[in-house]
Amino acid sequence: MNLHIHSNYSDGRQTITQIVKSAIKLELDYIAITDHFTNSWKAWVSTLNNYETISAYLEEISDCQKYLTKSNKQLSLLKGIEVDLGSSERFIRNYIQIDKFDLILFEYLENYESIAFIRNIIYYWKNKLTDFNKFPVLGLAHFDPSYFLTGNLEILMRFLKKNNIYFEFNSSYPLFYSRKNEFFFKKLKEYQIPVAIGCDSHRLSNLNDIEEPMEMIKYYNLEINFEILLNTLKFLELG
Ligand SMILES: [Zn+2]
Repeated sequence: MNLHIHSNYSDGRQTITQIVKSAIKLELDYIAITDHFTNSWKAWVSTLNNYETISAYLEEISDCQKYLTKSNKQLSLLKGIEVDLGSSERFIRNYIQIDKFDLILFEYLENYESIAFIRNIIYYWKNKLTDFNKFPVLGLAHFDPSYFLTGNLEILMRFLKKNNIYFEFNSSYPLFYSRKNEFFFKKLKEYQIPVAIGCDSHRLSNLNDIEEPMEMIKYYNLEINFEILLNTLKFLELG
């Protein structure tokens, strides 16, 4: 799987269709298109920051999902979005219609305040939903454990567990899953926090960089955590 891919809707090079075609050739089982969403100062790249762009984006992924189902491909495609936690809460509430997405990635979780920020948004989304089955999968994009190794680690773990938020083994940031963070991975195992693989692909050349993350998942004995995520994906209704 590669659950972290950017298309030309933000700072990726390829169109969604090109990414999907490539993923079929690579025989991936799951991919997610997760373009950027932000109104923070980092918003210098083109992002999904208006209704028209977001609906065109979702429609294009939808068309690919329909194609995959119709042609009986083994590949499953998720409608994702990567939410910059530097965005304002109002902006997130206004533009993200939660039942339209299969996956929400949060990026830049670096302190306790950001946990509270995400918690508020999840609470808001859950209250808006009438059909709980439509709630998307949640994950942390390229999360750096070192921010929490000196404090608040238990709080983080309880938060991830309670909200079923996964940790991403991101092949573009191997330092974050290096052995210096071993204690963090022990905690993931203890709490049975789901783990996933994402490559942060901006071009096709690293669409399939999943070998090293998979090895590290095994190295930290997190196969069960990976299984937990796979089970969640299996029961998702895509499209
Ligand atoms: Zn990204």
